[in-house]
Amino acid sequence: MIDIHAHYDDEKFDVDREVLLTSLFNEHGVKSIVNAGCNIESSLFSISLAEKYENVYAAVGFHPQEVDMFSEESFEQIKKMLSHPKVVAIGEIGLDYHYGTDDKEQQKEMFRKQLQLAVDTNMPVIIHERDCVADCLEIVFDYDVRGVFHAFSGSKETAKLLLDRGWYISFTGTVTFKNAKFPVENAAYVPEDRILTETDAPYLTAHPFRGKRNDSSYMKYTIEKIAEIRNTTFEHIERVTEENAKRLFGI
Ligand SMILES: [Zn+2]
Repeated sequence: MIDIHAHYDDEKFDVDREVLLTSLFNEHGVKSIVNAGCNIESSLFSISLAEKYENVYAAVGFHPQEVDMFSEESFEQIKKMLSHPKVVAIGEIGLDYHYGTDDKEQQKEMFRKQLQLAVDTNMPVIIHERDCVADCLEIVFDYDVRGVFHAFSGSKETAKLLLDRGWYISFTGTVTFKNAKFPVENAAYVPEDRILTETDAPYLTAHPFRGKRNDSSYMKYTIEKIAEIRNTTFEHIERVTEENAKRLFGI
């Protein structure tokens, strides 16, 4: 399994980070992890994890909720990080109107800058979108970039718009939730060469461990569910999602 989006820099992992990561690779069938940055600090942390663990890769960038910390200087720092050999994507970047839209214009400006950076450096992007799908797509489609919509929670119609433009769609534990609607529809709909899987650890833990701290070992429930929905085997979904992750991130 390849977990294309996790946050092992989160303080929830301070107690057992090393033991946990080692066991994920040695005992739980996790082949690779992309650790996503949200600001300078977590992007640097992602890089340090990638330096320490052969199978950890880093994404660097500014999350929309971190827009207050974004500056010309921090943008330059992100740019510099891209030359690190284990940085494989710009992310997570995007828009988030969940907690209000007061900073909407700043979010959009920061998002556009990071997308342009992806174009200029030919890096894939990891997109975060929450409660702002129309604005997000309007911006994204202005740029000739490749990448993935992580923890995708949109409708099948939105998925189609993304798939038509070459985007990948990533599934988390939410596809296993009892009330899951769109993720289940999309798990049946998205072609197998565009499906990715992730945990977004420590969040979004799959059923039956919903609410617990998430880690990449729980991704097996997500893969199992996708296999069930598509009437195929765990091994098949595991294999195609690994191939897709390798293709997108060059890992
Ligand atoms: Zn995330």
